[in-house]
Amino acid sequence: MKLANKIILFPVVIIVTIFTLGIFALEAQIAHTLDKHLTDELTSLSTISLSSAKLITPTEQQKYTEQLNFLAQQIAQASHASVYYYSLSGERLAGSDNLLSDKFLKINNNQDNPLANYQLRYLNLPETGQTWVLLSQQDNQLGLISQVALPQNYYKSTLLGMRWGISIIGVIILFAIVIFASIAIKLIDYVIQRERGKIEEKVSAKTKEITLIQAMVTMVNSANSVKSAGIMLTTILPRLLPGYSGAIYLSKVPEKKLNLLNYWGDETFRHIQAYLRSDHDEIRYELEFPSCFQLSDEFKERSVQVNLKNKKGHFGVAFFFNPKGKLTIKARETIEQLSKHMSDALANVLLTEQLRSQATKDPLTNLYNRRFMQEFLAKVVHRAERHHGCVAVLMIDLDHFKSFNDKFGHEAGDLILANVAQALMINIRLEDIACRYGGEEFCIICPDTQLVDAYHLAEKLRIKISKLSLTYQNQQLDNITMSVGIAIYPNHAPSCQVLILKADQALYQAKAQGRNRSVVIANDISENTASL
Ligand code: GH3
Ligand code: MG
Ligand code: MG
Repeated sequence: MKLANKIILFPVVIIVTIFTLGIFALEAQIAHTLDKHLTDELTSLSTISLSSAKLITPTEQQKYTEQLNFLAQQIAQASHASVYYYSLSGERLAGSDNLLSDKFLKINNNQDNPLANYQLRYLNLPETGQTWVLLSQQDNQLGLISQVALPQNYYKSTLLGMRWGISIIGVIILFAIVIFASIAIKLIDYVIQRERGKIEEKVSAKTKEITLIQAMVTMVNSANSVKSAGIMLTTILPRLLPGYSGAIYLSKVPEKKLNLLNYWGDETFRHIQAYLRSDHDEIRYELEFPSCFQLSDEFKERSVQVNLKNKKGHFGVAFFFNPKGKLTIKARETIEQLSKHMSDALANVLLTEQLRSQATKDPLTNLYNRRFMQEFLAKVVHRAERHHGCVAVLMIDLDHFKSFNDKFGHEAGDLILANVAQALMINIRLEDIACRYGGEEFCIICPDTQLVDAYHLAEKLRIKISKLSLTYQNQQLDNITMSVGIAIYPNHAPSCQVLILKADQALYQAKAQGRNRSVVIANDISENTASL
């Protein structure tokens, strides 16, 4: 049986039981009341019949009997009862009918308890199938016994009618209860199903969110650079917050302006600038929006800015925007949660990148260090050897840098070194690498590069550097020049060690020839190898 039916059945059984018991109790109470009423009525009828008989003066017997008969009929007519008169010896004197004339009931004549004189009897008449209630009363002075009788069936039929009436009303009420209960249960069931659906929806949305956040953390942690972590984030974040736009900025101490790591959604988000501000030792990030953004209160309600932080402190900011309307509480919760995980994951990648960079890069110029350069050169020479390819090496040295330092100071010299490094970096191909070989010396390794191209690159770089115009502390710095020595594997050297040596020799020649020039080493392998 279904639970809903059980829920209905249980109260219905209780109601039916209570109702049935109620009907019986009510009926018993009504029967008792009717019996009492019957007794009262019969008592008063017998009293009336005797007191009326007192008014008749017994002259001669026949006339007296006729008068009693007339009296009995009159009382019977007025009350629907049968009325009989008997002598004290039990002889029938008169009666309203003959129905019960032979059913004379002898009574006790109790002087001490006059009430006992009123004798109530029930009598079944099999011939009519009726039950009669009889009451007799004796008047010794008058020498008469009156007996009045009423059929009980008259009351019984009233009771039966009432029972039916109550039962029909009861069934209707019960039917109504069952219908209402069924409707109520259906409604409750509907509401429960709807609520359950909502809860299931919430749980599955939360599960999806947690799964996506975990996927985001795993992806970002597995990223081999902060840049690729940024790309991964922008593939996951739109799935976590569908329809949203946003951007992530990373702080590059000591610079005030933050670097845009990546953006998603609306294209205009790439033009937002983020700045580091510090008021009274409190660090905060400020976003500067392009003029196409209308910075109304509504815009603020649609957006949220979350600082990215690790144990050491803040290291960036993420900005989220809902173009469709205000941010919901749920969206704020999601953003808060994902920002926490995003902060941890990004901090990890940043740290890994920082450690890797410290091991392979030069902090002043951000170029690869000499150790990394040697490992890289060994690899590309080995590859060139297998594929019959070539590798070009450009050894670079800044001209008269000592005098530059002496003239403008060591810090201005550092500024020059950093700017030269940046110029070298942005003017070489992706597959080439630029390294700081030491002091004011740099080295560029270009895999799969022929001599002509290497020479052109050297010249291009030399001219770019010579045109660098820099100021330091409002002081215009002198332009600097550089000398470049070029050597190619396998044309000038059979191994990477010799290749570096040859490029260095070429650099030396460039210096000797007057500086600010590019020189290719002479093509004589056997001689150079022999001199090693
Ligand atoms: P040349 O044209 O013959 O190369 O002359 P030079 O003065 O550049 O060569 P030298 O080898 O005599 O001097 C190199 C100078 O580079 C000496 C040193 O002060 C400077 N230098 C080396 N490393 C750094 C550095 O990290 N920062 C600064 N500011 N100067 C450096
Ligand atoms: Mg030098
Ligand atoms: Mg020098």
